[in-house]
Amino acid sequence: MTLTGVVGAGVMGAGVAQNLAQAGHDVVLVDNDPDAVTKALSTIELNCRTSRLLGGPDLDPDAVLARITAGTDLAPLADAETVIENITENWELKRALYLELDQVVRADAVFVANTSAIPITRLASLTRRPRQFVGVHFMNPVPMKPAVELIPGHHTSPEALERVRALLTSMGKKAIQVNDACGFVSNRVLMLTVNEAAFLVHEGVADAETVDEVFRSCFGHPMGPLQTADLIGVDTILYSIEVLHEHFADSKYRPCPLLKQMTDAGLHGRKTGRGFYTYDAPAAPSPVAAAGNGSRPSAVTR
Ligand code: NAD
Repeated sequence: MTLTGVVGAGVMGAGVAQNLAQAGHDVVLVDNDPDAVTKALSTIELNCRTSRLLGGPDLDPDAVLARITAGTDLAPLADAETVIENITENWELKRALYLELDQVVRADAVFVANTSAIPITRLASLTRRPRQFVGVHFMNPVPMKPAVELIPGHHTSPEALERVRALLTSMGKKAIQVNDACGFVSNRVLMLTVNEAAFLVHEGVADAETVDEVFRSCFGHPMGPLQTADLIGVDTILYSIEVLHEHFADSKYRPCPLLKQMTDAGLHGRKTGRGFYTYDAPAAPSPVAAAGNGSRPSAVTR
């Protein structure tokens, strides 16, 4: 099996590292926040212990963790054949990282960008290897999700694309290939839906639980859009809709102020224990109430 680098050890990076390690790959996991590294390793350990209960495979946490070398230094990525980037959805942060990674990572390695919305060709242009640059939009939680969006950039070579497709197959993923565009297929639609659902709470049309209940009971969706927002990360939703807004310069993507306020307040969803719901009892999240018209959103104040 190959050595694969994973940069960013948040919600997605931890999941990608786990999925690679449980498929038998050696992994170097890097985050510039040491607390994120520690949290990722304990999340992976817990996910492995509970995998069976949640319908996944039987996993030995020690065996999975033994394949992961984690830290804050980019240098160990020098030996990786593929580097999967999963840092915060922010152009300036990603730009600075790719300029640095391009120096550290060996010349024949392939970069994989896991982004919610940023066009792959734009990210690839930051590097001296746009032919060896591929987008993969992983789904969350990564080890449990059977499919991904696979996105070649304008210059991606067929060899690089096939290498990444083979890596995804080894991880048990079906790769659904789409063309490069801001938000790809999934998030062009999903981010608008979640943003509008946030507007419904912000305007006091319904509280978070009622909005989600409509989607679950009327449409048969397993989760409502605001439960999905908490799973993805309310901050990540905001950053993604901001990327769409800036890219298309179209007011239909204007971010809901409630998403901004929740992001500023640290109400980022499951990963911080509170978002549209609170997660002191993870199996039974308690909903936040709707904001009244013109009032401060109770999602933030309660
Ligand atoms: P997150 O906020 O949970 O984690 C981001 C991590 O990146 C943090 O731990 C942060 O410390 C780290 N980081 C920031 N700058 C860094 C740098 N320069 N070097 C190393 N580490 C750095 O975010 P996430 O939800 O894991 O999202 C990561 C990426 O994946 C984003 O681009 C996001 O849009 C995309 N994505 C997210 C989801 C989802 O459901 N959350 C799904 C698909 C794709």
